[in-house]
Amino acid sequence: MGVQVNNPRIGSEDPPMSATKNQREQAPLARYADLKDRRLAITLSREDLEEEKDRDPLDRITCRTHRRWLHQCVSSPLHVIVVTGHRWCRSCSLALSVAVDELAGDVTFSCPGCGRAAPTRATRQLIRACRASLAAAHDDGLVYPGLSTPEQRAVS
Ligand SMILES: [Zn+2]
Ligand SMILES: [Zn+2]
Repeated sequence: MGVQVNNPRIGSEDPPMSATKNQREQAPLARYADLKDRRLAITLSREDLEEEKDRDPLDRITCRTHRRWLHQCVSSPLHVIVVTGHRWCRSCSLALSVAVDELAGDVTFSCPGCGRAAPTRATRQLIRACRASLAAAHDDGLVYPGLSTPEQRAVS
């Protein structure tokens, strides 16, 4: 038996994966229909379907378990994967802490033991996914504290 490594990215230009991209907005899957953030619901749905078609779940920018954007729940213990080294310092055997900077759209991981996060493939993948998640979440016109001043609304 052998281990098959599938990496469709190697040696190929990014093929147009999403044929549905330009179609009108899709309805979210039923299990996300109750989410108030419709953009999140649609992204969750899309990534669930992509995952069924062999997408790496660790490349997702939404979290199926927590039903949130990745950067909103990546600090949960469930996002520590010791085996793969995601959010995990191998030298210290400690979970990495997460600092999310919503303003800068950036995220940093650091080990509470040695203070650093080795630039492993797992850590780089996590940072990439969190940045994409921040960007996607902030792209929806919602007002975030500090980003812009909400309009004064008449209170009736
Ligand atoms: Zn999560
Ligand atoms: Zn460490």
